[in-house]
Amino acid sequence: MALYVEKYGGTSVGSVERINAVAEKVASEIKAGHQMVVVVSAMSGETNRLLDLARQINDQPPARELDVLVSTGEQVTIALLCMAFNALDIDARSYTGAQANIRTDEVYGKARIVDIQCDGIRHDLEAGRVVVVAGFQGVDANNNITTLGRGGSDTTAVALAAALKADECRIYTDVDGVYTTDPRIVPEARRLDQISFEEMLELASLGAKVLQIRSVEFASKYAVPLRVLSSFEAGPGTLITTEENIVEQPIISGITYNRDEAKVTIRGVPDKPGIAHRILGVISDKRINVDMIIQNISDEGLTDFTFTVPSGDMNACIEVLEPVVEDLGAEELVADDDISKISVVGIGMRSHEGIATKMFKALSEKGINILMISTSEIKISVAVRKEFTELAVRTLHAAFELEEQA
Ligand code: ADP
Ligand code: ASP
Ligand code: MG
Repeated sequence: MALYVEKYGGTSVGSVERINAVAEKVASEIKAGHQMVVVVSAMSGETNRLLDLARQINDQPPARELDVLVSTGEQVTIALLCMAFNALDIDARSYTGAQANIRTDEVYGKARIVDIQCDGIRHDLEAGRVVVVAGFQGVDANNNITTLGRGGSDTTAVALAAALKADECRIYTDVDGVYTTDPRIVPEARRLDQISFEEMLELASLGAKVLQIRSVEFASKYAVPLRVLSSFEAGPGTLITTEENIVEQPIISGITYNRDEAKVTIRGVPDKPGIAHRILGVISDKRINVDMIIQNISDEGLTDFTFTVPSGDMNACIEVLEPVVEDLGAEELVADDDISKISVVGIGMRSHEGIATKMFKALSEKGINILMISTSEIKISVAVRKEFTELAVRTLHAAFELEEQA
């Protein structure tokens, strides 16, 4: 007998038929004698619908109320799924995040899970029940409802798997695994049998939304065996595991794109010690993540300072920087969200030279101008104009020969 935590995403519970199909799939595991915890997302499109409703009423809705609103999507699916189990004569119980004791910090909209007490869930499992938990939500120390950020149901599932010491956490979605790049953009993309936590973390951070970043962090920290599979067809999916377990390690594992970045430039900043700190300090105080950073060589004591932030944070960034720009006597502040970040990820980069050269050459042959570059041990990212996103991804996927072998 094994204990599995299975998560079904929005499309996998997107209709009554899909919910019934999930119940039947889980029922077969129960019949095989396994204990099952099922985490569900809201039905596809529901979270966006709720966010849109909120914005029609107030373009800056209070964060607390927004979380109360968007958490309702998952509450609908837990109840419907339990009804589907009931129709199959399977004993099941639904849990909201609060009922499952998923405790988070107080950051509405992107809360982090700090603790889960699963006594209630364990008791149900021992009594032979299927436990159905609402993904994406928790409660803070004052019992306010919080949500975990877009794609947060993945993190709910992995956190529960860690807390319950499950044998495997399975993320069921609309693709049959993790691919070398988004198969919606490159149909020739190839499913990976295995990928390391470290590479998956980079892929998720750099834009592959198949798994939420936090879920990969959790899985890596608590060594949760994690698998991504299709809820529509049978197959082995992709196992995310430790580097030592990977049999054949390719040089490059994947290509990602992220259209949600903005470039902020402060022109004509006096080039003296402490500038980077003055500029970036106020941004990190606002908990805005800065990614690529470039400081030009100075010309007559003045320099340009450029960096990227998530495009959703661009306006907040301008707001906190305006007084700093004035204070520093800089010439101007320019923000531009017409960019995308394209990244090449692979552990093999550690031991192979020439990956960057190959990347830059392939892009230049297609006339794609590189606006910024950043690198780490296992990734190279470039910023390009947004219109080149798909071309850049396809070009690099072909240049690194990642496509399905004939
Ligand atoms: P769910 O609603 O099940 O959580 P998501 O839409 O969040 O599903 O994630 C699945 C989607 O992630 C796929 O439909 C695919 O378009 C996209 N995706 C992006 N990059 C990748 C990748 N490298 N491998 C697989 N899917 C990817
Ligand atoms: N329903 C939430 C979203 O759409 C959480 C999730 O599906 O993981 O982002
Ligand atoms: Mg998702």
